Amino acid sequence: MTDQILSILLSVVFALIFWAAGTLLTRSQPFALGRGRYAGAFPFLGAILGASLPEKVFNSPPFMAFAGAAFALAILGYLRDRYRVSYNTLLPWCIIIIVAGMFSALSAPVSIFRIFAVLVWVLLITLCLKISALVYEMPFILLATTSLSQFIFFSTGTHSIIATTINTALLTASIILLLFSATGNRALTGSSGIFAAGLMLAAVSQIEGSGNLLFFGLFIPSMVILFPFALISTLIIASYFGNRLHRPERSGERQWSWSLQREKTVVFSGIIFLCLNFFGLLVLVDSPAFGYFALFLLLLSSLAGFVTTFARRNISRSPAPLKIEMLGIFIDAVIPTQVIDTIANYLNRKNSGLMHIVTAVSLALVRAGEEDRFKSVMCRAEMVVPDGAGIVWASDFLGTPLPGRVPGVALVSQICEHASRNGWKLFFLGGKPGIAEQAAQTLSQNCKIDICGIEHGYFSSDSPEEEAILKKLASARPDIIFVALGVPRQEWFIAKLRGYIDHGVAIGVGGSFDVISQTLPRAPVWMQQCGIEWLFRLWLEPSRFMRMMKIPVFVLQVLRHKWNNPEA
Ligand code: UDP
Repeated sequence: MTDQILSILLSVVFALIFWAAGTLLTRSQPFALGRGRYAGAFPFLGAILGASLPEKVFNSPPFMAFAGAAFALAILGYLRDRYRVSYNTLLPWCIIIIVAGMFSALSAPVSIFRIFAVLVWVLLITLCLKISALVYEMPFILLATTSLSQFIFFSTGTHSIIATTINTALLTASIILLLFSATGNRALTGSSGIFAAGLMLAAVSQIEGSGNLLFFGLFIPSMVILFPFALISTLIIASYFGNRLHRPERSGERQWSWSLQREKTVVFSGIIFLCLNFFGLLVLVDSPAFGYFALFLLLLSSLAGFVTTFARRNISRSPAPLKIEMLGIFIDAVIPTQVIDTIANYLNRKNSGLMHIVTAVSLALVRAGEEDRFKSVMCRAEMVVPDGAGIVWASDFLGTPLPGRVPGVALVSQICEHASRNGWKLFFLGGKPGIAEQAAQTLSQNCKIDICGIEHGYFSSDSPEEEAILKKLASARPDIIFVALGVPRQEWFIAKLRGYIDHGVAIGVGGSFDVISQTLPRAPVWMQQCGIEWLFRLWLEPSRFMRMMKIPVFVLQVLRHKWNNPEA
């Protein structure tokens, strides 16, 4: 017992000494890791050394093999942090180090299959830590909660001294880093720290050879992978109760905004991970009912924490920005009536050129990040309005809330109403043959509109057919052109249209004609309000599934943006 306490104390002391030394060594080196002080793997390596001193574990060859592997991985991670060496280059080396280190650290006999399983386990845990690093101090939370549960597990019965030592080191280093970040500072562990800590965490369960510990380890991958989706779903569901996310109040402003405060998010996630690990322990020790009751209380308090974390009355009275930036694209903070007013003003001006309005969804922002040409078309557009619920969610999350959605379908109807009053000429382009006609017919049942052209959207780019449509548009001189060719084609088309006409407003409206013509039903109102209209479309058109797989990329990019801009 005294050895264990000594082991904890020494690991704390050594972690701090190594950390201080590492900070000094790397003081003048630039690291592109966001704001904070570079800590790398120094605290972890120091903690390993400190924890191994009392029991003289450091002398044993398996422990030396493990420590050598952790050190080598830390160096590889440092190369990544400092010189941006690609993961592709690092991966083969990581594999060699992990296999060699763990092969020597595990007790014999070790089969090829076991080595392969260990390799996958280490890589999986490291990947999860890497993903979690997108959200604030999440890796420290994960490491601290898991190693704490493992620590409790180790405190009963007899266990591998090497696994116990590594776990003690992990526990102290992660708690020190967590406490440091609680002071408002940020320790940047970078890939170096993540690689070393990933190896340590994975090694504890593998060296101990305990299925129960693997079970604890499983919470991490599953929670980390699920975290962004759990977060976005809870936000969307929460927005349904209380927040009129997609229904701006009459004043044109939302009364509530849901946003995350950094510290609270970290604490909240920590409690959730703790609950999970607590549950794991209860199951393991065959706990009496009292234990489950305590867990229930913990869950209740986390729920209260959730409410105060996510529900925040929007008391800021500072004037709302006209545009907000999201992943490098400027989005207009407008409600539908403001879009119509802008269009009206634009059309009243003479020779103002073609106005391009993009009705943006999250996938368009992802594409803009991947394709420079598409990004420049988005950036040149006179207006980018938030069509998708994902964008409104992200705007809340990033601390620059938008007033609400500007759904493309509703915009088409509203523009038509104004067109009939103001005598605007409309051109409908896109959709399958006959669909644009049907949509125009449905719209003209409500109001009298002046249609100067209708064309379907099934023609090839850069074809004589497209040329003919462009010329037709030029001679028809419409005031409003609805272009329903889907993203990104409609934006390419409108960009090209600039060379043919110098008047009017062109709006990319995606699948709106299908909905207006009632070829496709629109999602029920409750789904629209919940921001899950996309789910309804997926149900109707399962072929959209592959495209939707990009939604997680959007969520991760938003999380990464938040990580790199802590003040957001
Ligand atoms: N569309 C078109 N020409 C094409 C491809 C698509 O006119 O070459 C039409 C399609 O019929 C649909 C609309 O574009 O009405 C939007 O397509 P999609 O649902 O793929 O795009 P999104 O709404 O996701 O932007």
